[in-house]
Amino acid sequence: MASLAPLDTRTMMVMVIAGTLSMALAMAFVRTPRREGTGFWAWALLTHAGTYLLFMLRGQISDWLSIVLANTILAGTFALLLAAVTAFHGRAQPWMWLLAPIPATALLNGLFLQDLRLRLLTSSFMLSIQIVLIVWALWRPTRPNQPRGAILITLALSTQGAILLLRGIWYLSQPTAVQGLGGNGTAQSITFLSAFIVVLLASLGFVLMTRDRAEAINHELANNDLLTGIANRRLLQQTLQRDAQHAMRQREAYAVLMVDIDHFKAINDSRGHLAGDAVLRHVAQLLHSRLRSQDMVGRWGGEEFLLLLPATDVSGASRLAQELRTLVQDTPCRYEGMLIPAQISIGVCAATLQPGDRARWLVDAADKALYRAKERGRNSVEQAPLLRPGKPVPAQG
Ligand code: GH3
Ligand code: MG
Ligand code: MG
Repeated sequence: MASLAPLDTRTMMVMVIAGTLSMALAMAFVRTPRREGTGFWAWALLTHAGTYLLFMLRGQISDWLSIVLANTILAGTFALLLAAVTAFHGRAQPWMWLLAPIPATALLNGLFLQDLRLRLLTSSFMLSIQIVLIVWALWRPTRPNQPRGAILITLALSTQGAILLLRGIWYLSQPTAVQGLGGNGTAQSITFLSAFIVVLLASLGFVLMTRDRAEAINHELANNDLLTGIANRRLLQQTLQRDAQHAMRQREAYAVLMVDIDHFKAINDSRGHLAGDAVLRHVAQLLHSRLRSQDMVGRWGGEEFLLLLPATDVSGASRLAQELRTLVQDTPCRYEGMLIPAQISIGVCAATLQPGDRARWLVDAADKALYRAKERGRNSVEQAPLLRPGKPVPAQG
């Protein structure tokens, strides 16, 4: 039967050590200022290299070092990987699960030092448990939003676990052909080749996890208002442009609502700036609660909000504006035992856009309508037609 040509085990160990050390170095470079577990991961790579260095010296140093100590350090490596994943998720370290496998591995390896089969079987079993713990920490209790890094780590570690278990079974089935670590055999080749690939893939997975999260945070910061959590002005402007283009192509009505909290300065002055912040969050949440999936509400500035309403005509937009006005009026903000009442004024502009129209004309018109609502005593809704510069102003309804 054709079989895989045995590769030189020592050469493979050198490869594993060199590969692991280069990964540790690369990991040190991606270290982020925040505590994300990359430090633990880099340490795991270093201890992994240490393990294989001790494996390589099998026969030249005492078995207690090259077997018992090496496998104990390997258990420590997997404990560090678990610590890295836990730190990444910002959870408390599960000390018992982290530490218990280390003395257990030392004990089992010491106990079965002379019995290769039992030693390999128990080692494989212990490592499989550690792999299950890491995979568990990756996916539970909350699934990562961007799973590709976690998928890569899971695939890499599961492959490693499967190979370890298969190796155990293989040894069991061939009681006479059992080889020590130094021998050149197919099982050894596969074990070391897999260790090498697993280190590369899992580390790449972890780097991806940190990168994807950094990207998600950047995206959040670039598009959302920090105080209220709703869209910021940048995202509003982007969406407005895109929506307006779409409405123009479809010859569809499009509406914007400019909302401003009435006498907000008085709330700040009488209740404090933090209470003012709470009112801003409260109003943002109320405005958000009535939107359809295609609508957007964002913070335009200070205590002003802009609502973008695709496929909405004047009557629909005005009706929603009145609903929002009464909702805010009827729902005071709860803040530190206080009930803070608030009112809003809204300027509405809705139009069927024509080629050549500018999205900002809608905002300008809504702003003018808002100004009129303020002039007319606040806590009210006004609407204004879209003004096309150079064209006669349509009669107002
Ligand atoms: P009007 O009815 O005419 O809209 O009066 P107003 O007091 O609401 O408007 P004005 O423009 O005079 O005051 C707006 C206030 O909003 C002034 C500013 O300090 C406050 N403000 C702006 N941003 C924030 C914020 O993030 N938090 C808090 N607490 N206050 C803010
Ligand atoms: Mg105001
Ligand atoms: Mg204002």
